[in-house]
Amino acid sequence: MISFDLKCDGGHVFEIWFRSSADYESQRAGRQIACPYCGGQDVSKAVMAPAVGAKGNRRSEVLPVDTPSPSHAVATIPDAQSIHRIKALINELAEAQTRALADSQWVGAAFTERARAMHYGEAEQAAIHGTASLEEARAMAEEGLAVAPLLVPIAPPDQTN
Ligand SMILES: [Zn+2]
Repeated sequence: MISFDLKCDGGHVFEIWFRSSADYESQRAGRQIACPYCGGQDVSKAVMAPAVGAKGNRRSEVLPVDTPSPSHAVATIPDAQSIHRIKALINELAEAQTRALADSQWVGAAFTERARAMHYGEAEQAAIHGTASLEEARAMAEEGLAVAPLLVPIAPPDQTN
């Protein structure tokens, strides 16, 4: 097993395990790797370098060298107790999402195609989850498909082992 830090064209960096380097190359060439955050399949190895920190305050985080760091939604938090409450809620949310998806099948990038096939009666109804671009999700909603964004990013199960 070997793990690579990968980067999508949306600037997300994520870690994925492969059986071998050759496995990574073939999966990438076959566009079988999708960014767990946005579903982007245009992925490449992230070039990692240690973040430069002040002396005596060496930080262990690594940042991709050739991409601007993506902006994150942030909020001011008034006190430590609030931080714990927010973290607890996020954990609950993640657990609730996991329970909700227990009977759902991960279909990865095939989501749009599978959801449409079910909607138009070309495939049997089933609970599925996977990846779709924002544009695809909007288009599906406009066509009357019941799709919802997942609130907590999940690592594609077929790519983590
Ligand atoms: Zn992405």
